[in-house]
Amino acid sequence: MSITIMELATFRLKREPTTMADFEEANLPMLGGCQACGATVAAYNSCPTKSGYIACVGCVPEHFGYETVEQANYAVFLYPAAREKLRNLLFAALKDFEPWVDDEDICVVVDKVNFSIKICD
Ligand SMILES: [Zn+2]
Repeated sequence: MSITIMELATFRLKREPTTMADFEEANLPMLGGCQACGATVAAYNSCPTKSGYIACVGCVPEHFGYETVEQANYAVFLYPAAREKLRNLLFAALKDFEPWVDDEDICVVVDKVNFSIKICD
C-alpha cells in the first residue's frame, strides 16, 4: 500500500493539512494530475511515486509508490537537498584546482544502488 500526498504532508507538518497554505508549507501539491491516466487528483487520493511524478491510487501500484512516509520524505526532500549540498561542496573543492570551472558545468549523480558518486562536467 503506497502512502498518499496527504499522509506525507501530515508527516512533514506534524499536523493534518487543511488549507492550500498548509500544503505550500509542506512543499506538496493539494491538487494535481495522475501521470498515468491524467485524472485530476487531490492530496488524499494521490501518491508520490519513485519516478518523481504523482499517480492516483488506482494507477500507483504499477508506478512505484512509497511504502512509508519516512521513505518518501527522504527521497522527495532530504535526498535532493543532500545531493545539492554535495554538489556545492564538490564545486568549491574543484574551484581551487580548476578556477575556470563553471557552477553550471557540474552535476552530481549519486548511484544509490552501488553507492557511487559520479561527477560529470
Ligand atoms: Zn491514474
